[in-house]
Amino acid sequence: MNIVLMGPPGAGKGTQADVMARNLFVPHISTGDIFRANIKAGTELGQLANQYISKGDLVPDEVTLAMIKDRLAEDDCAKGFILDGLPRTIGQADALEAILAEQGKQLDKVVNIDVPEELLIARLCGRRVCRNCSQTYHLENNPPTEPGRCDECGGELYQRADDSEETIKNRLEVYRAQSEPLIAYYEQKGLLLSVNGNQTINNVLVDIGKGLGQSW
Ligand code: ADP
Ligand code: AMP
Repeated sequence: MNIVLMGPPGAGKGTQADVMARNLFVPHISTGDIFRANIKAGTELGQLANQYISKGDLVPDEVTLAMIKDRLAEDDCAKGFILDGLPRTIGQADALEAILAEQGKQLDKVVNIDVPEELLIARLCGRRVCRNCSQTYHLENNPPTEPGRCDECGGELYQRADDSEETIKNRLEVYRAQSEPLIAYYEQKGLLLSVNGNQTINNVLVDIGKGLGQSW
């Protein structure tokens, strides 16, 4: 299954994509995670991307689309993928369709996780991520067993630099202006599955499963 996960920053895309990917035996491809891995490794791509990510702006398409084209061509995507973080604009959605068509593929479903904006700031400010394996936690909603340590690998948890209140405000504006129109775009294509993201992590997963005809 070739699936895109959409929703505003903090909606729970990464959280859901991770479990879905494990259950479906397909890779979870997060454009944000790929950028952050490049920033950590100090690559040229990372240095360039960081100039935009640190302000909460979108990384330019020429960089982002080349990166995702290469990633989707890798062998582990042959049986499907869960794409989280792209497309973020109508232009990227058109480009994604063209990239997939070149590879003889198409999207099966676009899952939109719907969360009221007033909940997003608290979700993002409380988010903690494993430095080692990128597993995501929340200080209150989904805390690790041992404070500051990842349950999965024991790695150190950190707060993303762009999860500061000022950067979050810009990210939400960028989402509204550039990404929200994708909901109507995919609805028109008959691909959209919208789920209520304002419920427990497990119940969101159950609703996504119902919409995909999948029991996890
Ligand atoms: P996104 O990838 O959409 O930016 P994340 O999956 O990283 O969002 O989730 C943002 C934060 O909200 C994380 O700290 C995560 O633990 C928490 N979270 C995710 N889903 C839920 C939920 N259904 N209810 C409460 N908190 C959630
Ligand atoms: P995320 O991990 O999805 O919250 O993304 C973190 C940041 O990475 C975003 O705020 C953008 O700066 C950048 N980014 C991720 N995906 C894209 C994309 N598809 N297009 C442009 N920038 C992106």
